[in-house]
Amino acid sequence: MTPPRKLHIKSYGCQMNVYDAQRMVDAMAADGFVETANADEADLVILNTCHIREKASEKVYSELGRLRVAREEAAREGRDMRIAVAGCVAQAEGDEIIRRAPVVDVVVGPQSYHHLPELLARAAKGGKAIETEFPAEDKFNFLPQPKSDAIRARGISAFVTVQEGCDKFCTFCVVPYTRGAEVSRPVAKIVEDVKRLADNGVRELTLIGQNVNAYHGEGPDGRPWPLGKLLHRLAEIPGIVRLRYSTSHPRDVEDSLIEAHRDLPALMPFVHLPVQSGSDRILAAMNRKHTAREYLEVVDRFRRVRQDIAFSSDFIVGFPGETEEDFSATLALVMQIGYAASYSFKYSPRPGTPAADMQEMVSAADMDERLVRLQDLIDSQQSAFNKATIGTTVDVLFERPARNPGQIVGRTAYLQPAHVMASPDIIGKVLPVRIDSLERYSLLGELVTTMPSQAAHAPSSQTTIGA
Ligand code: SAM
Ligand code: SF4
Repeated sequence: MTPPRKLHIKSYGCQMNVYDAQRMVDAMAADGFVETANADEADLVILNTCHIREKASEKVYSELGRLRVAREEAAREGRDMRIAVAGCVAQAEGDEIIRRAPVVDVVVGPQSYHHLPELLARAAKGGKAIETEFPAEDKFNFLPQPKSDAIRARGISAFVTVQEGCDKFCTFCVVPYTRGAEVSRPVAKIVEDVKRLADNGVRELTLIGQNVNAYHGEGPDGRPWPLGKLLHRLAEIPGIVRLRYSTSHPRDVEDSLIEAHRDLPALMPFVHLPVQSGSDRILAAMNRKHTAREYLEVVDRFRRVRQDIAFSSDFIVGFPGETEEDFSATLALVMQIGYAASYSFKYSPRPGTPAADMQEMVSAADMDERLVRLQDLIDSQQSAFNKATIGTTVDVLFERPARNPGQIVGRTAYLQPAHVMASPDIIGKVLPVRIDSLERYSLLGELVTTMPSQAAHAPSSQTTIGA
């Protein structure tokens, strides 16, 4: 019997790339590949790339440089290493990748990776295989389901793509070009995927989409269902104790989503709601189609139904034309909201986007300085949010053994890592934890065994779910 071939996959960027990478592993498993953490011993290396900022794109080429050396080494040992580039750089650059890095055999875009096995077979006959069309067929109908042991190995928390693509065309963003138009998966398909995950130990779901709250997949009644209704349906699936979704656009927050936060204890009170800037002038230039005030109103609508709800956001500093006054408006908005966490980036011009042609570039020095000021403010808000947990009891969904022997790590409703000394059989359970201290971003505490009803923030504590 020939040994299984080995696949190494490296994913960059967003949660959807993490999910896509898992589906590529599932697709190649059906073709006899097993995953390896070591690129040097792999028969196939896939780079699942991100095009969102220039730095992310360029990383791919330095990695391909390293892989060229690994491939030569493998050839000396009589092994044939194949290299594929998938994801958004593949979509955006196509055959340019092979021109810059002839070591690459296959280039495949994010909507075509279900064709990976046949593209690799084509490349094996000599030559290169490139597929970056947006196919009319839906890749989800062709991808094999993950095997039970693969789901279990991935842990109790899983991503599920429910929506892809974007029709918003923010002027800085490549996503509408690399991921294509907005498409929502039908409710029945998502339910089927989630049941399979839950049957194999998954307890927490994060529904993902580039614009997840634009979800409008076909429901069993033949009508489009909004995200709120989908969340209600998924909350009914036995075993699923926590639901999350990401990333939301402030313009697509329907009342049914707000109501889901009011009515579903499993829906975590933590919402990633990117605003990008607090200046109306910059928001307009970004084509975000909302003002700072409208964003604040959306936040208020959530807060009215759940006072314990917390927010995170994405920010871009140094968008073309951003003045000190515009940037101050961003700081003011951050102060007003009080975020639990946030991501902030320096503006990176992306080829083919409208903003790349805008002339009034902010100097590198100003960008650096603004990024530091914004990140200092965000860090101070995050620290205050985390510190406020000390002395309280919070529900934690336990995920896996921690690095320190005897410790188990889980997450609070707000995705804060929380560590306790306990037996691994708490993995997969939501249990109340008394938080004693904070170590950087991690909470340290003890399981509360006597007074389960005192758990704060999240839903039903002491829920024992078979792993
Ligand atoms: N759909 C989400 C939204 O509406 O905000 C975000 C998707 S994008 C993959 C993630 C984040 O990358 C954005 O929120 C933005 O902050 C950042 N980003 C996108 N394009 C960028 C660019 N050209 N330069 C810097 N940051 C960028
Ligand atoms: Fe990009 Fe804007 Fe679409 Fe988000 S909403 S993916 S930032 S174009």
